[in-house]
Amino acid sequence: MQEDSFFKTAQELDKTDSLATYKNHFITTDNLIYLDGNSLGKLPKKTVEINKDLIENQWGERLIQSWNENWLNLSGNIAKKLAQILGADESEILVGDSTSINLYKLAFAALNAQGNKTKIVTDSLNFPTDLYVFQGLIANHFKNHNLEIVESTNNISVDTQQIEKVLDNNTALLSLSLVTYKSAYLYPMKTINEIAKKHNTLVLWDLSHASGAIPVNLHKNNTDLAVGCTYKYLNGGPGAPAFLYVKKELQERLTNPIWSWFGHEKPFDFSINYTPSNSIQKFATGTPTIISMAAIEPGLEIILQAGIENIRKKSLEQTTFLINLIKHYLEPLNCVIASPMNANERGSHISVQHNEGYRINRALINPKNKTAPVIIPDFRPPNNIRLGIAPLYISFTDLYVAVKRIEEIIKTKEYEGFSLEKLTVT
Ligand SMILES: *Cc1c(COP(=O)(O)O)cnc(C)c1O
Repeated sequence: MQEDSFFKTAQELDKTDSLATYKNHFITTDNLIYLDGNSLGKLPKKTVEINKDLIENQWGERLIQSWNENWLNLSGNIAKKLAQILGADESEILVGDSTSINLYKLAFAALNAQGNKTKIVTDSLNFPTDLYVFQGLIANHFKNHNLEIVESTNNISVDTQQIEKVLDNNTALLSLSLVTYKSAYLYPMKTINEIAKKHNTLVLWDLSHASGAIPVNLHKNNTDLAVGCTYKYLNGGPGAPAFLYVKKELQERLTNPIWSWFGHEKPFDFSINYTPSNSIQKFATGTPTIISMAAIEPGLEIILQAGIENIRKKSLEQTTFLINLIKHYLEPLNCVIASPMNANERGSHISVQHNEGYRINRALINPKNKTAPVIIPDFRPPNNIRLGIAPLYISFTDLYVAVKRIEEIIKTKEYEGFSLEKLTVT
């Protein structure tokens, strides 16, 4: 029977999976399959200990002495680990603020540095916050600039030629998500960077859906600028500080639009006039959020131990396996795969579309039969069920079970027990 053959394959793949034990580094819940690690990663066990010590000892006992003892070095220590994962130098990464704020700071700096060039290019697959940041920069400051949004013709990917066509010598900035949030389309970073160089266009990548899932290789790909979150595949915790990357050669040319004391060359001289630091620190904005920052480190350590190349390898095997399962069990039930079929063009999640996508998602999370596994993916309008694969804690059998549950929900119309009214966070 086909069913058995997929199940058997899943079990065999799990047996030979060299990353199989990494799930033990995370807090787990019985009978729960978590397919939303691309939105909020799981909690590493070590984070619980570290934050307990931070709150009870460092804050509770040592109080302000902890700034010198632990806290001032914290963002640098985290940048060092992140730099290894992203293929950059630690002197090019700053941890802090949200992705949106970092995007604003670097886009502002890039547009300023580009003088009279007035075109900003992005695509229709980009995350809304990115589009809003560019719209706001134009509305509030760069009033002569215009934003050109390259349209995806299939809502899955954008051809490199489409990007190439709109870039010209007036293009100041090109900004894209390396892995797009809905379809998981993965841009050919190096090629795009090379095309942009021909026009002296600066490229700002949003790595939110890529960091921790694929080797980004910022240096190898000759990347100018990047930002990204740490709470997705990096498992840093809800609202964990984001990061920004500025290539060494660009650091002198770019200026942080928000001048603050933590970006000053000598913050603790308390000078009246602003002199920016000549390091990546010049892009800081005020006092770092220590409690949420400390929570990032254990997740990075797990990734470094597992190896980002190994994570990518397993991720590709898993997205391929998942696509085969969907083709076999779900396509006959009117499901459509809305992610790239070519493995080299996708990140680590697969979007499946169905007219009842929202309610199928609700039924996966709240099964009618209480002994059925709870499966948590997420939903993105209009009808995408996003199945996120975090290879550190997802098994091949998990994917099999999830697809079989979706099949059951559709076949038995279990989703009819749920309201069409959407929750705020989907
Ligand atoms: C998740 C995500 C963000 C989130 O930005 P915040 O400022 O942390 O809310 C931004 N961009 C992309 C591409 C994302 O996937």
